[in-house]
Amino acid sequence: AAKEAGKDTYAVYDAHSETQDGARILLENDLRKSLERRELQLFYQPQVSLFPTRRIGAEALLRWHRGQSEWISPGDFIPLAEETGLILQIGEWVIREACRQGKQWIDAGYEPFIMAVNLSPRQFRQSGLVDLIRSILHETGYPPEYLELEITEGMTLDVESASGKMRQLRDLGVQISIDDFGTGYSSLNYLKRLPISRLKVDRSFVRDIETDLGDRDIVKAIIAMAHNLKITVIAEGVENEDQLAFLEANGCDEIQGYLFGRPVPPDEFERGMTVQGTGGRHS
Ligand code: C2E
Ligand code: MG
Ligand code: MG
Ligand code: MG
Repeated sequence: AAKEAGKDTYAVYDAHSETQDGARILLENDLRKSLERRELQLFYQPQVSLFPTRRIGAEALLRWHRGQSEWISPGDFIPLAEETGLILQIGEWVIREACRQGKQWIDAGYEPFIMAVNLSPRQFRQSGLVDLIRSILHETGYPPEYLELEITEGMTLDVESASGKMRQLRDLGVQISIDDFGTGYSSLNYLKRLPISRLKVDRSFVRDIETDLGDRDIVKAIIAMAHNLKITVIAEGVENEDQLAFLEANGCDEIQGYLFGRPVPPDEFERGMTVQGTGGRHS
């Protein structure tokens, strides 16, 4: 693991900001200790189907409570974790914690749902990834078909090796989705060669969907293309009814966004869940 971690770490010297370097080193040191200090936590954001409207999944999103008070969002530490290789340890914790929590909810009698976990590029390239996920599934008893790994378009540029790895993961029974779709370089031809079950339309296309004709066309095209390939489409970042109406009218299958719920800690997420067989909220 140490070898893997050091593989593509670059020492970056930023001449104009000595203090920034200092802050970065402190951040890195604290991040290194975040696991043993139990400062990492997963929040869960609901994913909802539209036809019919039902909660069908959750995305696990990492949060770091640095020290006593500071709260750091993943956008501010995932890149550093990726650069330093710490992402391998952190990412392993994320997958295990999501599966552990998911199993706990199933055992409590809640209807199983898709648990989506983000993989970073380095994690996806990690040679032991398939074995790691196999052993986490075994260890936690989480049903593989309810685990979804989110990867981004950039990780699949080498279609040959990416699709090989994805197939190995699919053989474990897990699902794979493409996150932030539309921001990369994907073509129809390329998607056809990847064993993916869902496309997540990037938030940037949803944001101005009410006014931006270009974004509207892109989203319509993505939905049509995905449906041709029998891939489910979920739109990210849906915040209001007008965005929802457009997506609904154009056949988008699923929605994730503040309109249906923000990422929340597990206890809060649990309050919105349904008990098996009831089809409605248990109270
Ligand atoms: P992402 O995977 O695209 O996750 C969706 C992000 O959009 C989340 O930000 C979520 O809170 C935010 N979001 C959801 N709905 C809305 C909405 O309606 N409006 C707006 N404005 N934002 C919305 P978050 O939690 O800050 O995560 C940011 C990114 O950090 C994630 O983007 C993902 O790339 C990365 N990340 C988060 N957790 C992990 C993790 O465990 N491992 C790895 N490798 N990356 C992670
Ligand atoms: Mg994601
Ligand atoms: Mg995304
Ligand atoms: Mg992302």
